[in-house]
Amino acid sequence: TRVLLTGGSGFIAAHTLDVLLKHGHSVITTVRTQQKADKIKAAYKSYADKGQLDFAIVPDIAQEGAFDQAVISDPPFEAVLHTASPFHFNVTDVKKDLLDPAIIGTTGILKSIKKSAPSVKTVVITSSFAAIVNPSKGFWPGHEYTEEDWNPITMEEAQENPMSGYRASKTFAEKAAWEFLEKQKPNFSLATINPPMVFGPIIHNLDTLENINTSNQRLVFAAQGKFKDEIPPTGVHLWVDVRDVAEAHVAAFEKPEAANKRFFTLTGFFSNKELCQIIGKNFPQYKDLPTDETPGGDYPEGGKEGIYKFSNKRSVDVLGLKYRGLEECVVDAVKSFQEVGL
Ligand code: NDP
Repeated sequence: TRVLLTGGSGFIAAHTLDVLLKHGHSVITTVRTQQKADKIKAAYKSYADKGQLDFAIVPDIAQEGAFDQAVISDPPFEAVLHTASPFHFNVTDVKKDLLDPAIIGTTGILKSIKKSAPSVKTVVITSSFAAIVNPSKGFWPGHEYTEEDWNPITMEEAQENPMSGYRASKTFAEKAAWEFLEKQKPNFSLATINPPMVFGPIIHNLDTLENINTSNQRLVFAAQGKFKDEIPPTGVHLWVDVRDVAEAHVAAFEKPEAANKRFFTLTGFFSNKELCQIIGKNFPQYKDLPTDETPGGDYPEGGKEGIYKFSNKRSVDVLGLKYRGLEECVVDAVKSFQEVGL
């Protein structure tokens, strides 16, 4: 299948590109600069040489019409995977830095496809658990999160802090996509992938660990000894391996049954304390890890029973996912950080 993948330089997108190429799909991926394209090309030279991989430069997805050129290709695209969206909390202006690229990026690519790429049959969008969770409910014991849940966040609450801004950006972007489908009745179907915290090996050409992607940051900090005296609160206690998220994106357009569904793709619970324990057990060279006595980073009172439940049933049944375990994920992640100087 001829596929357009946005944000190819990202943590999740790099794995998605890897799966796409290995499944034999022909891919054009968008990146912000030629330099980023060149790096990916070098890593996948054999695919690029035989014409299975090419690039389109889209410097800023928040600009109206940003994807107008990128959606046009020969042979024409049949599937579009839209992963590009800011995921960081280093923001000065929630609207400009988070909401606009997420929302305009999403509606923009859908408009461009409808206008200029009628051959596209499926669009897969990387949404998030951020668009599912209701943060005001806290650990919400007794509740089971599924694809039926929506974050009720308002535009006003989005402005409160960068975390709310990020969650709102994902919620409003996903809502806008489903609304587009309903109102514009385009030729394509939609599927969204809604992962919680994504951990795992990095394969996206990172120059320095200072630029580690947001969700992997705590693993780097733990190994660097930053949690020696106190482990920070875990926040969301749900996780998934990046390789499973990548498989989910590809299965979501390969399998017709996935059309017009959200997929809550997750493995299960974790705590920051468990992450530290796994690193300590497998990498004895890192000396400044917390011990079992170090405060913080644990489950709330009552352990996992004190937290909401979840169902990943749809992703297993429809996408055929087989989720990897936490230890394998953390070990492979840390090994990949070692190649960038950990
Ligand atoms: P990364 O930061 O590694 O990837 C984000 C990608 O989006 C990068 O390729 C980045 O390009 C691109 N991007 C961001 N803003 C713009 C913009 N204004 N114009 C063009 N490109 C832009 O993070 P992830 O791989 O983790 O995130 C990928 C997707 O997954 C996002 O949609 C995120 O919300 C979602 N997600 C991630 C989770 C996680 O735990 N990692 C959990 C749930 C959802 P560049 O690097 O060049 O700036």
